[in-house]
Amino acid sequence: MSPKNKNKDAPDFLVDLLEARSPSGSEQEAQKVLDKYLKPCSDEYEKDTMGNRIASLYPEGDPIIMLAGHMDELGLMVRYIDKDGFIYFDTIGGHDIMMISGRRVKILTDKGDITGVTGRRAIHLMSPEDRKKVPNLHELWIDIGARNKKEAEKLVTIGDPIIYEHDFQPLRNNRATGRAFDDKAGCYVVCETLRRLSKEKSKLKAKLVSVATTQEEIGVRGSTIASYAVNPHMAIAVDVGHATDHPECDQKKYGEFYLGKGPIISRGPNINPIIFNKLVSCANKAKIPYQIEAEARPTGTDARSIQISRKGIATGLISIPLRYMHTPSEIVDLQDIENAIKLLVAFVKSVKKKEYGIW
Ligand SMILES: [Zn+2]
Repeated sequence: MSPKNKNKDAPDFLVDLLEARSPSGSEQEAQKVLDKYLKPCSDEYEKDTMGNRIASLYPEGDPIIMLAGHMDELGLMVRYIDKDGFIYFDTIGGHDIMMISGRRVKILTDKGDITGVTGRRAIHLMSPEDRKKVPNLHELWIDIGARNKKEAEKLVTIGDPIIYEHDFQPLRNNRATGRAFDDKAGCYVVCETLRRLSKEKSKLKAKLVSVATTQEEIGVRGSTIASYAVNPHMAIAVDVGHATDHPECDQKKYGEFYLGKGPIISRGPNINPIIFNKLVSCANKAKIPYQIEAEARPTGTDARSIQISRKGIATGLISIPLRYMHTPSEIVDLQDIENAIKLLVAFVKSVKKKEYGIW
């Protein structure tokens, strides 16, 4: 059992992925977890120049199904150190600037972690107008306790990635909070699906390729090259989706999605209708709860790049309901994650020989 894992209901593989710090472009810690849990269960295991991890099962199968979940997460990056040793930074991925100050952070340097805090002028020192404003990024800094630039430069290098120190914590009712359920949850789902199917290979007609992708948060970049390389007939991306079951979230605007009511199956132009129907019928047959989301445009997920790779790939999207996306304290229901795995296991087993999703 993972030493960080204090909840027997949370799988070690998921907790280890959540503990791995993997801002886009610096995914080494997540790769290590995947190499430990995923590689031993796969028939083929590949790495590539962008750090994707590509695991295959039953290589002689036809069609080829690719599952994709991204291993990268939001972060910050050291941009400039001033004469007093305060560190200015850029953001990796889409941050809510209001959320950045007052955090404890780790700067991930080649020589190890440096602890710091994100500083901002205290509220007492702000004019009434300034209190209402969203700060500019250059009005925030990281304080590592250094006395001056020279001291800070000995510890920290321009370009070092930075991560919030917010560990996985179980909550009540099977819910849990963590720093990067987006998208360690989806990455876990696609990899765990392969691990479970590795024990049922005789039931497969399709070759299954589970890809833990990199750099999703900065423009679905890992999946772009992985879908070209894998060249699948069908693909399903697994990411997180907004649960709209908390205060101040207008369901008339954003739809109706709840923690604990099952994975969200997307429908719309980014989604192949055969894949959508198949996911729904597999869920019904296996009595897995699910929710349906209308996506009228290309989604902000790996499904966007995968669908239009090469001559086109029949693509689906499953999302784990999540509260407080892109904050250091996201919340999921662990049962939704488990149900997403069950749904994908059923889907992969249901695919017939030479079924390609062409309509
Ligand atoms: Zn995201």
